[in-house]
Amino acid sequence: MSKCIVCGSERIFFEHLCQKCYLENHPILQKKKDLHIVACEKCELIFVKGHWTNFFLIDVGEPTFNDKISTLISQDWIFYYKPKRMDIGKTTFIYNENGLTSAIVGIVDIYTSPDPFVPVMSISEDFEIAIDWGVCSECRTRLSGTYSSKIQIRSPMKIDTSELEKWGDEIEELSKQFPLTDGKNPLFKIIHIKNGIDALFQTKAAANSIGRLFSKNYGGIVSVTTEFAGFDKSKWKEFPRKRVVLVSLPEFTLNDIVIFKDKPIQICQFKGSKVEFWDFTKKTKVKLDIKPFMEAKPKKIEEESQEFQIINFEQNENIAQVMNTKNYETYYINSNDIEELKEGEIFRGTFYDGKILVKQKFSKSKLSKDDVVS
Ligand SMILES: [Zn+2]
Ligand SMILES: [Zn+2]
Repeated sequence: MSKCIVCGSERIFFEHLCQKCYLENHPILQKKKDLHIVACEKCELIFVKGHWTNFFLIDVGEPTFNDKISTLISQDWIFYYKPKRMDIGKTTFIYNENGLTSAIVGIVDIYTSPDPFVPVMSISEDFEIAIDWGVCSECRTRLSGTYSSKIQIRSPMKIDTSELEKWGDEIEELSKQFPLTDGKNPLFKIIHIKNGIDALFQTKAAANSIGRLFSKNYGGIVSVTTEFAGFDKSKWKEFPRKRVVLVSLPEFTLNDIVIFKDKPIQICQFKGSKVEFWDFTKKTKVKLDIKPFMEAKPKKIEEESQEFQIINFEQNENIAQVMNTKNYETYYINSNDIEELKEGEIFRGTFYDGKILVKQKFSKSKLSKDDVVS
């Protein structure tokens, strides 16, 4: 039976020493050091050991945040031997005289043993983590007004302010699907320009996805470029470059009459990167991918549509007499073109190639099943 070589106790712990004598020479914790974290003064995001984390001050006390505290303690305090496990007890905030959080305090139970054959023991220590205040990178971007990507929506048509506002609202709504790490909207500015808007974002990915989503229902074509961010172009490598997502809208809009592959058509809707139009020649709706459609360079008919009133149907000849309501001139048209209308009713039409194209009325409805897809 061996005894502690220092105090003579018969309860040997390790290396011929009792636990008390062993720990006197080999304390589990050799030295506590000051612990620090940085919190963003704008959004309270927490910065630990060189990195902005995904945690906010409000997460202090959560088990996942306790793991961060354990790591911080095990990295910064000096231990005689490595802690096997740490349990963080209840944590509390300390406030300064201005009511600002200045520190997080709590108790940590540290479990360890000097040797695999020695039972694990534990000590309890109190800790204090000082909070320094800073500004996280996202908030700094927001404050400085710099952006990392932008969407440019451009139309060759004259666009009024209410339409530009509607686009801006849609962009803002879509942006909510791409939140920053702090849950905030990545969009920070919308600028109205002549016949278009610029939407500025703090993340690169956002503009790309949002630009494409927006474009889908407007018949736009998307192209992505990068923009040099700085004044001195010889230093372009030192500056971050910005992503520019250009959404080019067509020169016509819903219900416009357009010449597509030498035939007149009327635009019904843009939806899901497709265009749906009325083919006056075949008297049917057609749905096409926007890209090949635009590549065929459809051209808008500049002729304004006019108002006509149906005078009467001449059943036998399959024609109808109509009158221009402005100048009272009368014309004959194919009655099939206005078969849902009655005598006396009014419709809009556009002169093209010696004929009157009867404008169809399309509500912004779903694309129907029997549409021709080519
Ligand atoms: Zn002893
Ligand atoms: Zn922040």
